[in-house]
Amino acid sequence: MKYLVTGGAGFLGSHLIEALEGEVTVVDDMSTAKYYYFPPKVKLVKGRIEEVDVQGRFDYVIHLAARPSPEDYMRYPVETALSNSLGTYKALEIARRNDATFLYTSSSEVYGHAEVIPTPEEYWGKVNPTGVRSCYDESKRFSEALAMSYYREYGLDVRIQRPFNVYGPRLREDGTYGRVVSRFVVQALRGEDLTVFGDGSQTRAFLYVDDWVDATLRMLRENVKGEVFNIGSDREVKILDLARTIISLTGSRSGIKFLPPRVDDPPRRAADITKARRRLGWEPRVSLEEGLRKTVEWFRGVLG
Ligand code: UDP
Repeated sequence: MKYLVTGGAGFLGSHLIEALEGEVTVVDDMSTAKYYYFPPKVKLVKGRIEEVDVQGRFDYVIHLAARPSPEDYMRYPVETALSNSLGTYKALEIARRNDATFLYTSSSEVYGHAEVIPTPEEYWGKVNPTGVRSCYDESKRFSEALAMSYYREYGLDVRIQRPFNVYGPRLREDGTYGRVVSRFVVQALRGEDLTVFGDGSQTRAFLYVDDWVDATLRMLRENVKGEVFNIGSDREVKILDLARTIISLTGSRSGIKFLPPRVDDPPRRAADITKARRRLGWEPRVSLEEGLRKTVEWFRGVLG
């Protein structure tokens, strides 16, 4: 099998390409690649998917390339909105040319400030089209709409997943790219205060990256053309509790520092994964404590 993976040097991509058997071509501009890992046979096309010329035949196009970190995308909204939408268009065209299966990695962000928690795939979302997160949310929503249009008009084999807060080794912790789990882990290991935005009552449900890889392989394998799946956890956790858990797991002396809330931060998020359980036979296997332990261990190694 021949795979094209956009964003293959990013966090999710680097884990996925380790698990893919066959020929893998990665398109990545390497702009945020930090802890990437390429198995020996992977071919790299360096550049932005919307700009590079990608040659070759592919059975699968897996479109991961995006700028998913809120502080990063709120700082670069134009680049985010354009690369998320034009990038998807380009990736879809490559898939269409190859009559390939197209797997789109959307986001739980399409639900916005969801009013139904845990959120099922049928929920349409509550997104502010002009808000500071709209560059990301709306471009992800547009990408889903475009992918479904290719499915309806051209019969392209399109599959859409909506990951919810995936974490694990290789998740960036630094600068504006840092996400909450890796940031808290590194702060705890360094003995720095953990930076909780707002009062920490906002929630997320975290999925360990190995479980995400498992779900993604199942989505490629099963006959789920034209379907959408939540890939996440239904265990809702308050950010303040996450901070406390990480302090206790690392045995750190760090305290907690409360910072102003992020603008438009979704107050609650958790996945209803009934459909993935039923149709993919998939289930998250790694508990939050176990996943955090593995993440802590990995970061201990990196920090030395
Ligand atoms: N968060 C936090 N401190 C940080 C980074 C994030 O309290 O240093 C909170 C943030 O306000 C949000 C949650 O953690 O409620 C998840 O943030 P992240 O940037 O990981 O991704 P999001 O789920 O918002 O896309």
